[in-house]
Order: sequence, then structure tokens, then C-alpha cells
Amino acid sequence: HCVQIIKYPHPTLRYKSKPLKRVDRELKEMIAEMFDLMYTHDGLGLAANQVDLPYRVFVMNVKDESGDGQERVFINPVISRKSGQAEESEGCLSFPEIYAPVRRPERIVVSAYGLDGREFSYAMDGLYARAVQHEVDHLDGVLFIDRLSPANQLAIREDLDDLVREFESSRRLGAIAGDEEIAARLAGLESVRT
Ligand code: ZN
Repeated sequence: HCVQIIKYPHPTLRYKSKPLKRVDRELKEMIAEMFDLMYTHDGLGLAANQVDLPYRVFVMNVKDESGDGQERVFINPVISRKSGQAEESEGCLSFPEIYAPVRRPERIVVSAYGLDGREFSYAMDGLYARAVQHEVDHLDGVLFIDRLSPANQLAIREDLDDLVREFESSRRLGAIAGDEEIAARLAGLESVRT
């Protein structure tokens, strides 16, 4: 296997994943590949749905104020204690070159399990609070375009239409499986680890 980033409107981006119960060596390898892809594409975070996997996990490199990065795997993340509101521009590796302002809570607390099975939690604000909310949305099949104001939705509509056309043409060429085949594959993977 070799994971790859899927683009809108691939159906796996709408998949709501169930909590992971089992983390095995193969999953750890996929997670290592997710970090590689995230760095290759200069992303801040990457969710399993974005690499066509039905698992409740995302990866992120969390930098502190000194700029030192720490790789974090967020398994079964839960957001609590949301406060404030902020609107900032967001993008997504599954929507290349599309950016739009999204309104979200400004501060959150996120708890999750790491690959070592230990629970951890972070109080976050600003960029990372936004990024974590964006990634947890992915695990619920929610995309940042769902959270845009009507005016901002309209502003990116043509760019979305382009992505839809690209997707349809890849599908016609056989590069992307049909919906039923994708659903069967996700169900099979899910049954092993959740
Ligand atoms: Zn995204």
C-alpha cells in the first residue's frame, strides 16, 4: 500500500469514521506515510479520510512558540471547552489552491490518544485550534467549504466545479473506483480496526 491524498469530491471525504480500537504495525506505517505526505505538501495537518482511510486519526506537527516542532498523532480526538470566535482564511490539501475565510471557535481543548496508547490533551488557540477543528471535522465527513458564508461559497464555486470536473474525468479514465467499490473497501478496512 502507499497512501495518497484524495481530492474533493472523492466520497471518502464524506465518510464519518468510528473510533479506532486497534493500532497495528500496518496502521503505524500508514501514519508514517501520512506525515511524509503532509510535509511534502506543506500541510499543517492531515486526516485519515484525506488518504482514503476510514480511521478516526489525524496527524499534525505542533510547533511551540520557539518554533520547535513536535509530531503528534491524534487518535479518537475529542474537542471540548470551545470559546471565542474568529474568522481566518483556511485551505485544505484536498482542495488545492482554494482558500476561504471560515468562522470557528478561537480556543479549544483537545484530548486524544497517541500511538503509545496514552491519552493527552492540549489547550490551543489561534492557528492550531483552527487546524485541529478542521481535522476533526474531516473525521466526521465535514469539509471547510461546508462552513463558509453564502457569499464565500459563491466566491469559490467555479474552483469547486473545476475540481468536480477533474474528479469525473479521472473516474472515466479508471483512476478512481466507483462509489460501491470505495464503500466496500472502507467497510473492509474498518471492520479490522474499529
Ligand atoms: Zn482539510
